[in-house]
Amino acid sequence: MDNVILAVLAHPDDAEFLCAGTLIRLQREHGFQVHIASMTPGDCGSAEQLPEVISAVRRGEGAAAAAVIGGAYHCLEERDLLIVYGERALEKVTRLLRRVQPSIILTHSPSDYMLDHEQTSVIVRAAAFAAPIPNFLADRKLGKVLPHIPHLYYCDPIEGKDPLGREIPPGFCIDVSAVISTKAEMLAHHASQRDWLLKHHGMDQYLQAMKDSAAQRGKQAGVAYAEGFRQHLGHSYPQDNLLGKWLGALTL
Ligand SMILES: [Zn+2]
Repeated sequence: MDNVILAVLAHPDDAEFLCAGTLIRLQREHGFQVHIASMTPGDCGSAEQLPEVISAVRRGEGAAAAAVIGGAYHCLEERDLLIVYGERALEKVTRLLRRVQPSIILTHSPSDYMLDHEQTSVIVRAAAFAAPIPNFLADRKLGKVLPHIPHLYYCDPIEGKDPLGREIPPGFCIDVSAVISTKAEMLAHHASQRDWLLKHHGMDQYLQAMKDSAAQRGKQAGVAYAEGFRQHLGHSYPQDNLLGKWLGALTL
């Protein structure tokens, strides 16, 4: 459908870090129906709570964050550090795509700081290709095929760099200056992660970290806050910048 966007990212708070400003704008300015999916419930995101306990907390946080913009949260129930491109994950994401019928899909950069993100990226890329193919796992009734491959975009990698520390410049940026406080409000719903990030990543004030990276992209794009994206432009994927048409693409 024209006004449906789906973000499929690895962990429950990734969308709020990487692309929530864009989701907010599409919802507010163009009435988009927003879906946010995580591949896992974030079961390793605690040093104190058992996997099933922290998973339940984080599913709730993901749903609460999405609800800020009237969006739906989906958990695909893979497990942290175990996201792998393969039949099971591809079937799950394809099934979700056929249920949601998005015109635009957002996922992780193919190069990112951890393998869960990189594997999610290839799974989503493959699912976007599979979702319009009627014979793909036809015996499993994955749902109504998409009319065509949706527009696929990669968010910035974490800290804008690949695993070797090299900068990955965005293809274009979306101005999120006017919605940065709502983006922070969504991220703040992931309260369980503040303590975890402090302990494991040595990163306090995760709201500030999100704002800092959006400010860095904003500075490059000539606005206060921005989010960076690259479009998947391989053969058979849509070539026009639909996201840029909706929200205005800022080039660096
Ligand atoms: Zn993540």
